Amino acid sequence: MTQQTTADLQRLDRAHHLHPFTDFKALGEEGSRIITHAEGVYVHDSEGHRILDGMAGLWCVNLGYGREELVEAATRQMRELPFYNNFFKSTHPPAVKLAEKLSQLAPAHVNRVFFTGSGSEANDTALRMIRRYWALEGKPEKQIVISRENGYHGSTVAGLSLGGMAPMHAQGGPLVPGIEHVRQPYWFGEGREHTPEAFGRLCAQAIEDKILALGEENVAAFIAEPVQGAGGAIIPPESYWPAVKEVLARYDILLVADEVICGFGRLGEWFGSQHYGLKPDLMPIAKGLSSGYLPIGGVLVGDRVAETLIEEGGEFFHGFTYSGHPVCAAVALKNLELMEAEGIVEKVRDDLGPYLARRWAELGDHPVVGETRSLGLIGALELVADKAGGQRFDKTLGAGNLCRDICFDSGLVMRSVGDTMIISPPLVITRAQIDELVILARRALDETARRLGITTTKEASA
Ligand SMILES: *Cc1c(COP(=O)(O)O)cnc(C)c1O
Repeated sequence: MTQQTTADLQRLDRAHHLHPFTDFKALGEEGSRIITHAEGVYVHDSEGHRILDGMAGLWCVNLGYGREELVEAATRQMRELPFYNNFFKSTHPPAVKLAEKLSQLAPAHVNRVFFTGSGSEANDTALRMIRRYWALEGKPEKQIVISRENGYHGSTVAGLSLGGMAPMHAQGGPLVPGIEHVRQPYWFGEGREHTPEAFGRLCAQAIEDKILALGEENVAAFIAEPVQGAGGAIIPPESYWPAVKEVLARYDILLVADEVICGFGRLGEWFGSQHYGLKPDLMPIAKGLSSGYLPIGGVLVGDRVAETLIEEGGEFFHGFTYSGHPVCAAVALKNLELMEAEGIVEKVRDDLGPYLARRWAELGDHPVVGETRSLGLIGALELVADKAGGQRFDKTLGAGNLCRDICFDSGLVMRSVGDTMIISPPLVITRAQIDELVILARRALDETARRLGITTTKEASA
């Protein structure tokens, strides 16, 4: 193969490649950054830069890059059986073994999994199961799913309808009917006139109000991410989930915990639901399931729903060609085995999570930072123009994107959601690499402040 230069690749990319969640024209003018290889927590681009990947790819490369064991698992399985389906009364060892492993790791009442190719397909599957379940229970009028504004459940039509992303809704055409949204527990963004505790309870109350307005007899399920990821690493106030649990306990509706990001150690437990003591009926999973090495997702199905689907359901007319793909399943199984063998989840809970919390909070003294928050290995900081008053930057300044670009150019992937900067590093990051991440983030904040004309303490005292 002839060596293609960065400019060649950018030209071809512009000519032929439509990127996800991208302004095609603007990217064409700017040109893509081309990532060529990676190891551990670092990615490298075609111009020789090494970049600390504070986003674990896209919330998924939990074991880090370059794990030979995963490469070997894929190679071995490709040689043995690269594909066979799970339709028509057949299966294969990787799908069965992965299903068993997931049942072991999941909460006690969750013993089955339906495989998909992605998190979006997992949420589509959850919606199918919810509606099928209530129909089989003789309550077909229980159809409505309550979801949250600014939640993210994927980008298929059902996924974006379940999600609460306003820009996606605006482009998605008529959405899947029977999905109602309630306010999100985003204290810094929407609740600062209350204490966080009071605001958490208000947001839980909004769910109950919605159930009462719709009539319990019409409500099928409530769906939520334990911690919102794409919405801005939104960690709800401590009062939120206990209050939501109380609300849900009063009504007969299903709980769907979208674990696509929170699952597999991100919050220091195997599942985010365990951190918050939730007992979900369905848990969509993907991303960290295979550390992103191959695409695979699924829905973990609690006994209540599974037993009805199995005992009463007859054929469930749903599935994907790649449901339980053998190579993806083999890699996911090896990924989970490595996580167990290396005690990754415990390390996040007992060491790395608390360490990140301490170091990350130090950024709270920066003049453009209005709040820092983290839980396990997910974190966010809020950019503000006026620290004392907590005033946001004028939207037209694009402070978040500016900070993100500065980060990337200076060797750190930190993503922006509006003016919220978020991190979700690989779970194998070390304390020293967390130190490096915090140093790079502070430098980027300094530069962001400088370009936006905010005086930093350093300059003030100089
Ligand atoms: C990423 C994500 C999805 C969608 O997963 P895809 O694999 O991109 O389809 C769904 N839910 C949550 C919480 C996610 O973060």
